[in-house]
Amino acid sequence: MLHNFNSGPSILPQVVLQQAAEAVINYNNSGLSLLELGHRTNAFQEILNEAKDAVKKLMEMNDEYEVLFLHGGATTQFMQVPMNLLDTQATAAYCDNGIWGNKAYKEAKHFGQVAVVSDGSTDKYHSIHKNFTVPSDAAYLHITSNNTVEGTQWHSYPTTSIPLIADMSSDIFSRPTAFNQCDLIYAGAQKNMGAAGVNLVVVKKDLLGKISRPIPTIMNYQKHIEAGSLMNTPPVFAVYVSMLTLRWILQEGGLEEMGRRNAAKSSLLYNTIESLPIYTAPVAKEDRSQMNAVFFLNDAALEEPFLALCKQEGMIGVKGYRTVGGVRVSMYNAMPLESVKVFCELMQFFAQQKG
Ligand SMILES: *Cc1c(COP(=O)(O)O)cnc(C)c1O
Repeated sequence: MLHNFNSGPSILPQVVLQQAAEAVINYNNSGLSLLELGHRTNAFQEILNEAKDAVKKLMEMNDEYEVLFLHGGATTQFMQVPMNLLDTQATAAYCDNGIWGNKAYKEAKHFGQVAVVSDGSTDKYHSIHKNFTVPSDAAYLHITSNNTVEGTQWHSYPTTSIPLIADMSSDIFSRPTAFNQCDLIYAGAQKNMGAAGVNLVVVKKDLLGKISRPIPTIMNYQKHIEAGSLMNTPPVFAVYVSMLTLRWILQEGGLEEMGRRNAAKSSLLYNTIESLPIYTAPVAKEDRSQMNAVFFLNDAALEEPFLALCKQEGMIGVKGYRTVGGVRVSMYNAMPLESVKVFCELMQFFAQQKG
């Protein structure tokens, strides 16, 4: 029995994998593979429509927002956001709360001025720095809603009078949240929503068309809206897997249910860490991520044997990120509570042996 704690690409619901596999051979009894269908067919338009409708429904977004499925990973958005929204002389505000936000603001510097308004590196990214001021003339404020590597999460978003942009790659659709506080949301699909290769972008339309820079067509959000996410061939298979996952989320009970499950899993794990003195969770309690939990063995020499035991017991992907070390347990929507229970039992067993 394997327990998949990979940080991304990561666990997906079994039923989604089965349906995706079937579609590759014979899509909807059409006798054709999904991979052989034209993207301008009714069949694909239906897939795209269902995916967009599911996003709007889950986010409770009104028609001021557009839902786009675009090529690339979230890293493409690090560039595409400032290319579309930041004029050369203007300033964008960024929260540097971890490795991804750090990369995002460095990309923005190619396009305009950047003000890093909070710098989490001063406490090794162990908390979300929430006391900061944003230049009132900034084009936007950018946050990373969940810091996949460091294990922190914004549990409520900063209130600001300027447009708020959120990289939600690793906690999209994991709980009810104030999506409508954001003016642009993006997420690479492969953590909580589907297969790699596609980005979800949800953008408030009145944000666009305000800068003077010419934008290459394929990078231009406005043009993608006009083309209905069909400017060129979209990543058909990745969009399909996202649609199946979104359908699954709705069928399981939507974000309320995802939030309930994710709270149960993460509190079990954090409580187990706290109850066993050989482990330490470094992240400030109020900022702990429900998706990615990071912890250390107080005696660093025990890390290797602990990880070896995990491997032996079929716990996949729990080694901490290379710059952080320690252990990282990713518990995305599709992860059953049972897997977290088994992992916690293993932590207890190891603590008894070594404590
Ligand atoms: C994984 C991740 C990224 C990078 O995504 P790619 O699809 O590999 O470009 C960016 N931001 C966050 C928060 C992530 O978790």
